[in-house]
Amino acid sequence: MPSLPLSEVLRLLSLEELPELFPSGRVVSYSRNLFIPLSNACRNACAYCGFRSEKPEIMPEAEVLKLLRAGARHRCIEALFTLGEKPEEVPEIDSQLSRMGYSSSVEYLYHLCEHALELGLLPHTNAGVVSYGELRSLAEVNASLGLMLESASRRLCEPGMPHEHSPGKHPRHRLRLIRDAGRLRVPFTTGLLIGIGESTAEIAESLLALRKLQEKYGHLQELIIQNFKPKPGTPMQHHPEPPLELMLRAVHAARVLFPGAGVQVPPNLNPGFERFLVHGANDLGGVSPLTVDHINPEAPWPEEESLRARVESLGLRLKLRLPIYPEYVKRGWYSERVGEVIHRYATQHGFARALA
Ligand code: SF4
Repeated sequence: MPSLPLSEVLRLLSLEELPELFPSGRVVSYSRNLFIPLSNACRNACAYCGFRSEKPEIMPEAEVLKLLRAGARHRCIEALFTLGEKPEEVPEIDSQLSRMGYSSSVEYLYHLCEHALELGLLPHTNAGVVSYGELRSLAEVNASLGLMLESASRRLCEPGMPHEHSPGKHPRHRLRLIRDAGRLRVPFTTGLLIGIGESTAEIAESLLALRKLQEKYGHLQELIIQNFKPKPGTPMQHHPEPPLELMLRAVHAARVLFPGAGVQVPPNLNPGFERFLVHGANDLGGVSPLTVDHINPEAPWPEEESLRARVESLGLRLKLRLPIYPEYVKRGWYSERVGEVIHRYATQHGFARALA
C-alpha cells in the first residue's frame, strides 16, 4: 500500500464530479445486531453528545442477560456493547461496579462478552480509550473492536471547541489505541465524525493518519463516515449538519484510501443512503430487529427487507456479515473461543449464514 500525499487527498475531497465507484453486482454488507448501551457515564463531555447523562447508570448483569437472550431469539448475530469512556471515573459507577465485584468496566465487560458468546452472539465492543492490557483482554472475547477516531485535529480540543472537555478525544490517545489494536492483530472498526467544526484539510489529515496505520498493520476492517446530527439540549444543538456534498466526497475519498475495507454510512442517519453506495460506500453497519440506535434514538433503522429492496434496485447485492469482516475470518484473526462461534455462522467466503 503506497503512501499518499496530503495534496492527493485534498484533491479527492474537492472533486466537483464524483465517479461512480460501485459497479453493478457488487456486494453491500450489513450486520444484524443487538445494541447494548451498557453505561451512559463518561469521563468526557463532548459538546454534541446526547448519550452521556448527568444521571449515570450502568446496566446490571440480569438486564444485559435478558437483552442477550432476546437478541438470540431474534436471530441477532452481533452483540454491540457501547458505553461512555472509563465510566468508573464517575464515583457512582465505581461504587456500583465494586458492589458487583468488579474493579473496572472492562472487567465487567469481559464477563458480559463471555455470556454473549455462550448464547451464540459475537461481541463487538466500543469502550472508548482503554489501556493496551485492557484491549488485549477484550480481544479474547470479541470478534472485533471499535473506536471512532472522529478527527485527528488537535484544534477541536482547544477552548470553545467540541472536545475541550473530552481528554479521551485527543487524537494522540485515539491513534495510540488504534495502533495498539494493529499490534494485537484485532480486526478494527473506526471512522470520522464529519461536521463538528473541522476543516477539509483536517478531514484529509484524519484519513491519512488512519491510512498510515492501515499501511503498517492492515487491521482496519471498516471506516465509518458519520454525519454530525445536532441533539437537543446539547451545546451544539444549533450547529448545522454537514453538507451532503462534503459527506459524499469524504465517502469517496475513504473508498480510494482504504480499497480493501468496508466504508460504512449509517442508513438511519442518511435516508438517501443510495447515493453513498454509488460513490463508494459498501457497508450499512449494524441494523437491529430489536433495539434502537441508543446514540441516535430519534433515527430508527430501516427494516432489513426494505434495505434489501433498495440495495437491489441499484443492481447491488445485500449480504449479511459477521462483526468480523470476511477477510479477517479467512486470516483467522480471532481467539479460539470466539472462533467457535464464528464457525457456526461463517460461510466459506467469510460472510454470515442466517441460522434458522
Ligand atoms: S466520548 Fe462518547 S459518550 Fe463520552 S461524551 Fe463524548 S460522545 Fe458522549
